[in-house]
Amino acid sequence: MSFFNGGLYMKTLIVGGGIHGVTIALKLLNAGYEDFAIMDPADLTGQWQKLTTKINMGHLRSPVVHHIHPDPYDLKRYAKKEDYSQPFSGYYQRPQLEMFNNHMNNLIKEYQLENYHIREKAVSIEPGYIINGKHQAEQLILATGINHLHYIPEFMADVAHYQHLFDSSQPLASDIDVVIGGGITACHAVRELTKKRHVTLIMRHAIRTHELDSDPGWLGPRNMSAFNKIDDYKERRSIIKEARHRGSMPAHLKQSLKFLESEGRVTLIKGEVASADHQYLYLTDGRVIPYQSIALATGCEQAIAKDPLVSQIIQTFNPPLAPCGYPIVTHDLEWFDHVYVSGPLAELELGPVSRNIIGGRKASARICQAIS
Ligand SMILES: Cc1cc2nc3c(=O)[nH]c(=O)nc-3n(C[C@H](O)[C@H](O)[C@H](O)COP(=O)(O)OP(=O)(O)OC[C@H]3O[C@@H](n4cnc5c(N)ncnc54)[C@H](O)[C@@H]3O)c2cc1C
Repeated sequence: MSFFNGGLYMKTLIVGGGIHGVTIALKLLNAGYEDFAIMDPADLTGQWQKLTTKINMGHLRSPVVHHIHPDPYDLKRYAKKEDYSQPFSGYYQRPQLEMFNNHMNNLIKEYQLENYHIREKAVSIEPGYIINGKHQAEQLILATGINHLHYIPEFMADVAHYQHLFDSSQPLASDIDVVIGGGITACHAVRELTKKRHVTLIMRHAIRTHELDSDPGWLGPRNMSAFNKIDDYKERRSIIKEARHRGSMPAHLKQSLKFLESEGRVTLIKGEVASADHQYLYLTDGRVIPYQSIALATGCEQAIAKDPLVSQIIQTFNPPLAPCGYPIVTHDLEWFDHVYVSGPLAELELGPVSRNIIGGRKASARICQAIS
């Protein structure tokens, strides 16, 4: 990195310092590649740490070998070295959240990633890869994720007291008495909120149980070799949609919800909200639910172009897009001239696991091989 016309010049800029951006940075450093920077207005992996701590997630959903270090066994070694008691849980050995986050913070420190961190939001990328009108890079890696694109249902238009659970800038408000959503985030939030008060959980469907976000076959050639042979991106999109178990939770979390229900600490309502005013939610079947404050566990917008940076890049560079509006990328995850992607932006190539922690590892391996 060097100074350039009042900005910084670097060979490679990673945009987004979340789990994926940091995974890619570690992979590059392990390959001896140092001429890069990571641009993120937040602390490295800070968004993830805030939002998972906010809902007191306890354990991750993904298994022990999914984390930011290139060596799959690094987290296991770390747990042993730091002498954690019961660091992993269940058949999949899901890591304890606090340990997982400490492991990341430790690696960020050990690899001195703060020296590579530009604490800015990327708001524009112009030809010549001029970022925010002042920095310049020869190549870009877009690792901006999707958790910041909160999905707010239309019926919330007249509701004043609510928060989206992916909003890491706000703590979990103690006056929340209604949670809307049927997946793992809703479940964790209910478990946390019911420590202090009764909560109503409104789900569109009965509780769906799946141990992981998608079948383990999507982690390797069992499912992916057939997926990568499909030329039709509409078909790839519908396979991804089917394969991702959205709005689901592992069986042990369902049991904990049922236990809270049996104790009268949560009321589980299967229903669809039609409209809302400043006091009540009106369900399509005629039920009326009073509320003080609502937590939305409604996930993210699915249209990636709702991200202002992605939209600006599409307008400026006219890169290849599938009918679903997501990038068509090469095997190396190159979207267009020296612009690489990870996470949701890479999912038409990496498949249903692309948004997950392991998607960052997969993206890092391909991108690192291509550029280093
Ligand atoms: C509650 C919850 C639990 C989850 N649990 C798991 C789990 O157990 N296992 C699993 O595999 N996955 C899990 N996931 C999915 C998880 O979000 C991803 O695995 C992981 O966070 C993806 O990392 P990321 O870097 O793509 O996105 P993020 O962690 O969201 O990071 C994106 C980063 O990009 C930055 N950014 C965005 N726009 C810009 C911009 N314009 N300029 C600069 N920076 C920008 C943001 O500030 C952020 O730091 C969970 C998700 C949630 C919401």
